[in-house]
Amino acid sequence: MSQLFELRISPEIEEISCMEPAGGWSSNNTFRIKLKCGNCKDDTKFLPLCMEKVTKSPSCNAHIIHKCRCKNVGTVQIVSLLHGHLTKNGHIRIMKLECKKMEPVDVAFDFQWQAYDKNGNLSDEFEFTAGVSPRFNVAQNMTTQQPQVTGLRGYFEVMDG
Ligand SMILES: [Zn+2]
Repeated sequence: MSQLFELRISPEIEEISCMEPAGGWSSNNTFRIKLKCGNCKDDTKFLPLCMEKVTKSPSCNAHIIHKCRCKNVGTVQIVSLLHGHLTKNGHIRIMKLECKKMEPVDVAFDFQWQAYDKNGNLSDEFEFTAGVSPRFNVAQNMTTQQPQVTGLRGYFEVMDG
């Protein structure tokens, strides 16, 4: 019995089209996620979810294997990377996860990000910090308004199959 989740970022966005880890999706960044045990409902601490494993070996068995105090063993597998494009609904799709016996409840992003505006200009690197309003400058051809990302928040959406 497994369940699919989509990791998304929900920012208030002006004038950007895409967000990604600084250096791109093949860079060696580690997300950290917190899981809730499907048996005893305990939360784990933040566990590393390494991007490097995904890009080098997309078919490896599980990216996280965690044994709870209640002896339940849960797994998290990254099914696909969604490359950070902004949807019409205003959220940024990061990756799809398949989880067994545990579900993801929180995420931390401990690395720098970059973004593209609607004209394809790349931003400076900026920190993903929930609850604050990082500004970032478009590196080239910046004429009018500065793209701005505020209220960054990562969350997991339950997917149907
Ligand atoms: Zn448990």
